[in-house]
Amino acid sequence: MQKISKIAVLTSGGDAPGMNPCIRAVVRTAIYNGLHVAGVRQGYQGLIDNNMYDMDPRSVSNILNLGGTILKTARCLPFRTDEGMETAYKNLKANGIDGLVVIGGDGTFTGALRFSKKYPDISVIGVPGTIDNDLYGSTYTLGFDTATNTVIEAIDKIRDTADAHDRLFFIEVMGRDSGAIALRAGISCGAEAILLPERDTAIEHLIENLKAGQYNKKSSSIVIVAEGDKRGAYDLAEEVRKQIKFYDIKVTILGHLQRGGSPSAFDRILGSRLGFAAVNALIKGETQKMVGLEANHIKLTDLEEALTQHQFKLEDDLMEMSDILSI
Ligand code: ATP
Repeated sequence: MQKISKIAVLTSGGDAPGMNPCIRAVVRTAIYNGLHVAGVRQGYQGLIDNNMYDMDPRSVSNILNLGGTILKTARCLPFRTDEGMETAYKNLKANGIDGLVVIGGDGTFTGALRFSKKYPDISVIGVPGTIDNDLYGSTYTLGFDTATNTVIEAIDKIRDTADAHDRLFFIEVMGRDSGAIALRAGISCGAEAILLPERDTAIEHLIENLKAGQYNKKSSSIVIVAEGDKRGAYDLAEEVRKQIKFYDIKVTILGHLQRGGSPSAFDRILGSRLGFAAVNALIKGETQKMVGLEANHIKLTDLEEALTQHQFKLEDDLMEMSDILSI
């Protein structure tokens, strides 16, 4: 078993609220256990540029409430190459680092696993940090809860104005491959329809549904469209406009505001638990694993398995319930 003496922590891919509580937990758990910690700036790019600094418990003071990530994040093309990985490895060795905690999504884990197979003397643990909630091995990922609450707050406001003007709003929310935010926000806001990348909803069905709403005296309608729906909110609105005249139809793209904001209680606790567990896993000699939360318990999953099983499983029962509750 490899004995760890110094670890590095980085955040990579899209930022997600909850990353800061996780960084804080990693730093303090490591120092509590007598390890040294380096913070790597800008994800894998920081490994290649040797952009890292020693952290102590005060380096992570007062960050629990901050969105984004104090370490910054980046999408780094050079890390996909053998040369980039070799430079990263040499920099880690030069800094005396033998363990790495990476916080990010499936791309980050793909890079981490490739790196760890090439350089097994650096132990690697992944923490699921993505608002998309689409990783195998953890019921929830960091940032999903906060992002969903942000979306709900925005849609509640849109509902007020939609209702005042008898309007139909198409609201696009984040999720290129995953309808997780759209589905949860749709249930929470009583959306009349939810369109997801995982399910093909025929336009005729949507129109029928909206007409039924009007027949049932609804004064406004909200259609949530996940970013990954192949038609997009604007084209959908255009199609519907041709056939529905009783509503004034508007489109709102929520965009990047969904990523920001102070992490929710759930994400602060999840970040703390996963960061704590990641360091304890490294100390126990684990590597090439992801820490996740299943049935409220910490669970380790092989990164290989997490990546091959990677897919958001749409809960059909929730879709069905949402359709019924929005009549
Ligand atoms: P999100 O879910 O928020 O998009 P992510 O971790 O999936 O997060 P990506 O941009 O896909 O975000 O990946 C983050 C980084 O991981 C990439 O910029 C790249 O540096 C690294 N990476 C991704 N795929 C590979 C790969 N096949 N080999 C090496 N590194 C990779």
